[in-house]
Amino acid sequence: MTERFDAIVIGTGQAGPALAVRLGASGRKTAILERKRIGGTCVNVGCIPTKTLIASARAAHVARRGAEYGVVIDGPVRIDMARVKARKDEVVGQSNRGVTNWLNHAPNVTLVEGHGRFESPRTIRVNDRLLEAPEIFINTGGRPTVPDVKGLDGIPFLTSTGMMDIDFLPEHLVVIGGSYIGLEFAQMYRRFGSRVTVIEMAPRLVAREDPEVSDAIKAMLEGEGIAFRLNAQCLAVQKRDAGVAVHVSCEQEPRDIAGSHVLLAVGREPNTHDLGLEAAGVAINARGYIDVDDELRTSVPGIWALGDVNGRGAFTHTAYNDYEIVAANLLDHARRRISDRIPVYALFTDPPLARAGLTEREVRASGKPALVGKMMMTRVGRARERGETQGFMQVLVDAETKKILGAALLGIEADEAIHAIIDVMAAGAPYTVITHAVHIHPTVAELIPTLLGNLQPLQ
Ligand SMILES: Cc1cc2nc3c(=O)[nH]c(=O)nc-3n(C[C@H](O)[C@H](O)[C@H](O)COP(=O)(O)OP(=O)(O)OC[C@H]3O[C@@H](n4cnc5c(N)ncnc54)[C@H](O)[C@@H]3O)c2cc1C
Repeated sequence: MTERFDAIVIGTGQAGPALAVRLGASGRKTAILERKRIGGTCVNVGCIPTKTLIASARAAHVARRGAEYGVVIDGPVRIDMARVKARKDEVVGQSNRGVTNWLNHAPNVTLVEGHGRFESPRTIRVNDRLLEAPEIFINTGGRPTVPDVKGLDGIPFLTSTGMMDIDFLPEHLVVIGGSYIGLEFAQMYRRFGSRVTVIEMAPRLVAREDPEVSDAIKAMLEGEGIAFRLNAQCLAVQKRDAGVAVHVSCEQEPRDIAGSHVLLAVGREPNTHDLGLEAAGVAINARGYIDVDDELRTSVPGIWALGDVNGRGAFTHTAYNDYEIVAANLLDHARRRISDRIPVYALFTDPPLARAGLTEREVRASGKPALVGKMMMTRVGRARERGETQGFMQVLVDAETKKILGAALLGIEADEAIHAIIDVMAAGAPYTVITHAVHIHPTVAELIPTLLGNLQPLQ
């Protein structure tokens, strides 16, 4: 027998639960489906656990540097990986239970556990149940990409998800992929005490960023003892003794890097392959992402796609913003659009890289006359007081409108300080709003007006 609802949400990631609760509150009888862990990637195997582990790794790092601050620790710093993992599991558990409770107590919301698959544009099969609704919202997220590397089927390997179960210290972690997720794990495990090598096929790390940013991040991580192999073409892996050997080059020596464990961190792909989208007629692009318009509507009326699955963002904040757009347009008769969103994100190395808007390369390519301001973190009082002066801050401004085009802040507390810039960009206000404001001393953000007071033409 078909069970009728007013709305069905597939997936409990960063958009689904908030949307289901709002739909329920609007009086719609709503079903929300989850096949694995409530809360999705961010809560269970993404942002929350990684940032919790990064906090443990930072504690170890600061403890090792204790003597520089006059704090004497007699004896070496030891890491108890079982406790590190238990702490992570506790923090994740709190969030996971929080979302579960929220959904279980939301009016008009029914949580259905199981894998959902379209049988038609209005019906979803979950185990032996058939659910029907005139409005369906897809929030199925993504999963780590397992690349086609020779020998991979013959070795045990880890992905970001598998890393969540580790309660021991890998002797030598070889990270394949020198981008956002790979670098966070690389620094974290180096600080826990592993030897770490990062293998990247491109000529530089986080290749989406400006070369200056990539170089500064590489120098910072090399300073902590992480080894890099860039331009690693001709990848292959094989079992060697108790570990693995990663073949990194067909010409250049050394050709192999031997490690105890391999982490694959080469990107993510959307969970669209097992959703029965063809039965609903929902169009996907060549990379498997669901095609959506500016208001998250798919090619089929009555079906929306939110979060990583639509390829229009790859972050918790973009997934949540998708929810806000859909809810506002559907329930509040607003006209919010994804194209109004400013790209913002952080790489949570320590210190972090925080980004907003365009890179310098993108500004140059746009041909706009632009101004640029840059300041090394060595000039920031807060950084000197904390003994953490790595990095720099750079802001790009439109020379005609005085609006901020983009910013890259690499340094302590950059992930918080960037919001002074993001909010002015979102308001469409000129950078002079920041230079005229009074900021709190001593902070990182207080130096942004000083930086903006010394803008030069971008050559
Ligand atoms: C290691 C790592 C670190 C990260 N760190 C950050 C960070 O610091 N900041 C940040 O902004 N982002 C971070 N991200 C990205 C962030 O986790 C994702 O962008 C975010 O979770 C996307 O949310 P979503 O709503 O698209 O779906 P997801 O959170 O991916 O959830 C989708 C849910 O749908 C379920 N599902 C899938 N198919 C079905 C089906 N057919 N039936 C029923 N259920 C289904 C899945 O089981 C899953 O629970 C990180 C990701 C990783 C992997």
